[in-house]
Amino acid sequence: MSVAIYPGSFDPVTFGHLAIIRRAARLFDHVRVLVAHNPAKRGLFSPTERVALLAAVTAGYPQVTVDLTDGYVVEYARHIGAQCLIRGLRGPEDAEAETHLADLNRTLAPELETLLLPAESDLVTVSSSDLKARAERGEPLATLCPEPVARELRARFGQEACS
Ligand code: ADP
Repeated sequence: MSVAIYPGSFDPVTFGHLAIIRRAARLFDHVRVLVAHNPAKRGLFSPTERVALLAAVTAGYPQVTVDLTDGYVVEYARHIGAQCLIRGLRGPEDAEAETHLADLNRTLAPELETLLLPAESDLVTVSSSDLKARAERGEPLATLCPEPVARELRARFGQEACS
């Protein structure tokens, strides 16, 4: 069985992440989306809230599951027998950072291959941080994230409705 792991902060999940998950689910029998929690980095959503949002928006993909770790991603990958680690690429900045990370992970776990999937052109600018900034300003979120995420963001920033 082919197993891939897709780690990240997902604070919160966006349509950019979801597109990567959808494409990964076509390539692998099982995709584990992993909220990799760094206790030193405080996010808007708690790690368990991020997992709950991811689980809600990936419910339609039977081969996708979601989990949380505050340990090493490569250790987690080894534990579940993943052959591949998926990351997304939005542009040259991501490419540089992701290539570096892939190199580091190759040193730690040579058996784990990193697969970098390029962002779809209409999602290339979508990021969790931009989404949060727009939510805080009360801007429309419908093209950036699924409705359950938009609803949580509006609640966080004390807004009733802003599509
Ligand atoms: P991290 O803090 O680990 O980068 P993120 O949640 O920001 O976590 O991103 C997780 C992964 O998803 C990263 O590989 C990132 O490049 C990728 N990603 C984020 N947004 C997009 C997008 N719009 N299109 C494609 N990949 C994306």
